[in-house]
Amino acid sequence: MRVAVGLVLCLLFAGLSPVATASSGADNAWPGEPVDNHVHMTWAALTMEVNDWADNHPDIVKLIDAGDSELGKTLWVLQISDWSMETKANGKAKEIVYIDGGHHGNEYLGTALAWLSAQFYIEGWSEGNQEVIDVLQSTELHILIMLNPDGNDFDTRWNINQVDLNRNYDHYWNTCPTTQPGSSAFSEAETAANAEYMNTYVTDADLYVTMHTGVWIILYPWGKWADQPSDWELFHRIRDDVNANISDIPMQNANQGLYPNCGTSRDYGYGVMGIPTFTFETDDEQFVPGSVEALNERLDEELDVMRYLISNVWYWRARLDVQSIQVSDEEVIVDVSNLGQASTSNATLQFVDSSGQVSWTSSLFTVNATNSSVAVLDASNLSYTKDGSWQLYYQKRVIDASKWVTEPLEINATVLSEDDDASFLIGYGLFSPTTILAGLAVIALVRNEDEESD
Ligand SMILES: [Zn+2]
Repeated sequence: MRVAVGLVLCLLFAGLSPVATASSGADNAWPGEPVDNHVHMTWAALTMEVNDWADNHPDIVKLIDAGDSELGKTLWVLQISDWSMETKANGKAKEIVYIDGGHHGNEYLGTALAWLSAQFYIEGWSEGNQEVIDVLQSTELHILIMLNPDGNDFDTRWNINQVDLNRNYDHYWNTCPTTQPGSSAFSEAETAANAEYMNTYVTDADLYVTMHTGVWIILYPWGKWADQPSDWELFHRIRDDVNANISDIPMQNANQGLYPNCGTSRDYGYGVMGIPTFTFETDDEQFVPGSVEALNERLDEELDVMRYLISNVWYWRARLDVQSIQVSDEEVIVDVSNLGQASTSNATLQFVDSSGQVSWTSSLFTVNATNSSVAVLDASNLSYTKDGSWQLYYQKRVIDASKWVTEPLEINATVLSEDDDASFLIGYGLFSPTTILAGLAVIALVRNEDEESD
């Protein structure tokens, strides 16, 4: 209801006062100062900005201190969602998206894209933008805009210890020809804090975008290897969709698209956390004083790609949906569709008995992205009862690190056996309340006899 009122007010203001709705140039300007040949947002300016957002929009913005840089500057994370709703309207957990920017302190447009992404959803909410409302009611956005504030304020790629933060992650650390990866994986306060945040808040994320500048390209895993990632279908579908409908930006395996690189946050996000991860490289043209474009115009196309990735995050995993289950004496036949765009190769169907225990687990089966499969599963160990239920247990993606999910099914099995009463009577009878009571009576009787004989 609050949303509806907000919309009405917004429409009223739109009619009455152009001032209320105008997105002025000042609102969209990168909040910084000209330095050298670009406009530079300092950590201090960012700190004011994110605190203003949190103060002015407490219904959708939480500001989290994710730790400090080596020089003690706070690493701010914005958590943006409709916090009046703990779950989605259907009661299911919200989708989770993680974004960071500014690993490299002199890559302003990458940091700016992270800032602009946060701004789009915060201001869009206030303006009653339906796309933004839909996203924030179903998704948590976690955005760490500036990971390397020391390097940012000194206008350098490195952190204060002269380490390349995007070579300092614990995934094949220091195994590529590389410079300045640090003394060990996570030797730096900034990367250690980022990994801790990721492992605390966004383990269930289905999208991680890390923002840089240098070449106009979007990179997916791996940086370490030239091979395509296990979930190549997912990455290629996204690439094809972006290129067909949104932007010509090249999208490639990072190793081939750029050069071999190890210990990156991208390979860590995918290889260790199992999250579909992209490095978003905006191009290397920075702002020139006196000809500063509004950010929303300069990074218009890049933001469109981000909006697409965020709005469709529900699809960036396997989403199994069971059409039917047929049970016979010998086998269980399950007809299952995958509504998501990632495959899963480790799915099992499980039977849960009336006491809530998993009493049967099928062999593993695979369901390819956006496909349907009919799996015929050996059921010789199944003790089927009509008061039990079914669930699926599977990995969200193919990559080893990806999360496992358990999803209860609301579907009943069709029993195919000719004489199902007879064939399932044994399984049912053994665990029926009557049988258990009868068993207890026998035990009690035996005990009584024992006592008498004492
Ligand atoms: Zn970079």
